[in-house]
Formats: sequence, C-alpha cells, structure tokens
Amino acid sequence: MAEKHFKYVVLGGGVAAGYAAREFAKQGVKPGELAIISKEAVAPYERPALSKAYLFPEGAARLPGFHVCVGSGGERLPPEWYAEKGIELILNTEIVKADLASKTLTSASGASFKYDILIIATGSTVIRLSDFGVQGADSKNIFYLREIDDADKLVEAIKAKKNGKAVIVGGGYIGLELSAVMKINNFDVTMVYPEPWCMPRLFTAGIAAFYEGYYAKKGVKIIKGTVAVGFDSDANGEVKAVKLKDGRVLDADIVVVGVGGRPLTKLFKGQVEEEKGGIKTDGFFRTNVPDVYAVGDVATFPMKLYNEMRRVEHVDHARKSAEQAVKAIKASEEGKTIDEYDYLPYFYSRSFDLSWQFYGDNVGDTVLFGDSDPASPKPKFGSYWIKDGKIVGAFLESGTPDENKAIAKVARIQTPVESLDQLTKEGLTFACKI
Ligand SMILES: Cc1cc2nc3c(=O)[nH]c(=O)nc-3n(C[C@H](O)[C@H](O)[C@H](O)COP(=O)(O)OP(=O)(O)OC[C@H]3O[C@@H](n4cnc5c(N)ncnc54)[C@H](O)[C@@H]3O)c2cc1C
Repeated sequence: MAEKHFKYVVLGGGVAAGYAAREFAKQGVKPGELAIISKEAVAPYERPALSKAYLFPEGAARLPGFHVCVGSGGERLPPEWYAEKGIELILNTEIVKADLASKTLTSASGASFKYDILIIATGSTVIRLSDFGVQGADSKNIFYLREIDDADKLVEAIKAKKNGKAVIVGGGYIGLELSAVMKINNFDVTMVYPEPWCMPRLFTAGIAAFYEGYYAKKGVKIIKGTVAVGFDSDANGEVKAVKLKDGRVLDADIVVVGVGGRPLTKLFKGQVEEEKGGIKTDGFFRTNVPDVYAVGDVATFPMKLYNEMRRVEHVDHARKSAEQAVKAIKASEEGKTIDEYDYLPYFYSRSFDLSWQFYGDNVGDTVLFGDSDPASPKPKFGSYWIKDGKIVGAFLESGTPDENKAIAKVARIQTPVESLDQLTKEGLTFACKI
C-alpha cells in the first residue's frame, strides 16, 4: 500500500481541524506540507449547526453554507480553498492505528501516512444506549447526533415519519436543542431525563425552571426522574415504544438519544500521557510525546484562570486551541515563543427563539436576575456565580452582543461583589457598568 509523507498532519476533520488549517495558511504553509485526515466525507464544518438549522423544516442549513470558519464570523473555507492552498484533504479515511514512535498512521484500507508533526483532533464520540446493553437499543429510527451522516439519517426519518411522535432521551443541550427542532418539525415531542432539572451540569434550578416552562408552553412534554430501559420495535425493526424505568411506556416513531460523549483517545492509549479522560497537554497543546499536539475535545489542558487541568467539549475552545497549537508550532520553528493559552470558558446554545451564553465557571453561590417568567412576551434573564466574593461565572438569555461582552468581562476579571442582594437587584446593569 502507498505511503505518503507530510510535514504536518491533523488527524480528524472537524471544527479544530478547520481552524488549524486556516491558522496554518495565515502563518504560511507550502503546498503539500499539510494534510487533514478525516473519516467524514466532507471538509471541516461548524458542527453545532447539525442540531439546529440543519434540521429545520424550511430554509435548512446545508453544506457548503456552514463550512468553517463561518461560525465565528470568519471566512468560509469550502473544499476548493484547501485545494488552492495545497492543503491535502484526505476524506473518507478512518485511521485505525497510530504509531507515535515511528510517526506513522494507518488507515482502515491499509494506507500509511508519515508525519513530522501530528495534531490530534479526533473529537468525541457519542455514548450509545447499546453500550449499556439497553434492550432494543439497536432498533431502527433510534438516532444519535455527532456527524453530518447522523444528521442526514435523522432528516430522512423526519420526512418519513411526518407529524409523528418523537421521544428525546437526555436533558443536556443536545436533548434541549433536539426537542425544540423536532417540535418545529411538528412532531409530538416528549423529553425524558433522570435528573431533577434539565442541563444540570450548568443550569441552576432557577435557570432550568425557565426553559422547562418555556418548552412546556411550546407543547414539549417533559418526564423527569426516570430513564429509558428498553425499546419495542415492529416487524420491520423500527422503534415503536420507549419503556421507562418507572413503568410508563411512550409511543415513538423517532427516538433521539443525547446522553453525552466520550473523547476519542483510543488510538493513542499507552503511547501518550492522559488526564481526566483526555490527552494531557501544556498551554501550547503539546503532549508529552515530542512533535505530537492534541486540541479540541480530546485535550486536557491547563486552565490558567482556575489553575486546574480541564477538558472542554465546546466549539469555542476547539477553534481557539487549534489556533494556539498552530501558532506554537510555527513559533517554535522560528525559535520564538508565544503566550500560554489563557482560556475563559464560553458555551452557548440556541433553540426556538431563545439563545443563551455562559462564560466562566459555574461554582459557588448563585443569583438569578431579570425576567425569567416563561410566560413573558420577551423574557430576558441571567445568573451570576460568586465564589470568594468574586463573580466567576455569568449566564445570560437573550442578551445583545454588547451585553454578552459585558458578562464575559465580569467573569474574566472576576469582579468583586459586596452584596448578593444588591447584585440580584442590579442584575445585568452590574455587568454593563464594569
Ligand atoms: C450536534 C452537536 C451540536 C453541538 N452544539 C454546540 C453548541 O451549540 N455550542 C458549543 O459550544 N458546542 C457545541 N457542540 C460541541 C462542539 O461541536 C465540539 O466541541 C467541537 O466540534 C469539537 O471539535 P473537535 O475538532 O475537537 O472535534 P470534532 O468537531 O468532533 O471533529 C473530530 C473529527 O475527527 C474525525 N475522526 C475521529 N476519529 C477519527 C479517526 N480514527 N480517523 C479519521 N478521522 C477521525 C471525526 O470524523 C471528525 O471529523 C456540539 C456538538 C454536536 C455533536
């Protein structure tokens, strides 16, 4: 089988890979020096679109419309862009073996790729109910959402099961976004999750109460405190019902499962140091193996602001970590240094006509401010997290760009707070005057 050699290889063709390519091009890369190897069939795209506009019944987002870097307001890089720059996009190619000692990657079809410098950007895979042996979990029309192929299959099912019943398993952001978009597609939607409220990893009870109320108003049914323990299917093997642990049985034509992800580090087990489930890096995304970097969902990196090693599974970090790694690679080639990564966590989500942003860390005391009544014509509210007398995290629903900038700033500079009552009263004004 053929062997190809590249100066730089990015393994993975997702968000981080696309932003890495743009940074390589900015810094200067010669034709033939850089390759992106991806199991997907398409050039890097903005993955968050898959659970949002990609599934809209009308005006749906489609490639090439959402190739990176449009999600951050940048230039869109269609496949031709890579060709023009002499960046090789090696698509439909799954790497099944990585030998970091001999700097060789081997694909499922037996092709070998040698590199001088490797950037691991393999992202995450979904956790499947079949991983836990849930009965009937391999029935047809049970979907997971990670890659564009998954989204295409869901789009087909939405068309085939028009106005049917959808059960969404999981109450995280995928569950919330999918429930909304299935409702917009005129499905009868029920969400099921075991926790006392949705998005418990981020939302306080107060924040969650708003979204649960809003979803109820939109006609989404929510069942909390129980889990799916089995699925019934018909003679074609298509799912027909979801059996819950509390004994209830829900009719279903489509089930979407969003119960979390797992970083794809398997290829490198035993070859590279790991921490907290990810590949351990420094503030330049260098691993302990020379010439091997890891970025995006797979990297566990020093979060300078909190003096702690963390892994972040969000798009903003995927973009920024990729840029940082490329800058570090280029600087070290020129004998220069760059500043360590200094990241302020930033997550967002959108559903129905809602849109929230969160910055910082969700630890300590919390205050809820603003109008969080789901029945309000124009609800707008937020929350601060306060630790050791300082704001460390801030959340805002329906903020303007300037207001979002203001909450980011208070979380970044960790603005001191004298009174929680005063903070509750001032709410957003507190951030906007800093
Ligand atoms: C449906 C969905 C919606 C999301 N919405 C939001 C959101 O609203 N806000 C937010 O902040 N974050 C969101 N995220 C998270 C965000 O998209 C991820 O954090 C981001 O994509 C991570 O980038 P990455 O490059 O590390 O991995 P990915 O973008 O997942 O890319 C990994 C790539 O590696 C490839 N790959 C993996 N293994 C191999 C192999 N062995 N051989 C070849 N190729 C391989 C994959 O096929 C894929 O192309 C969402 C994620 C999903 C799935």
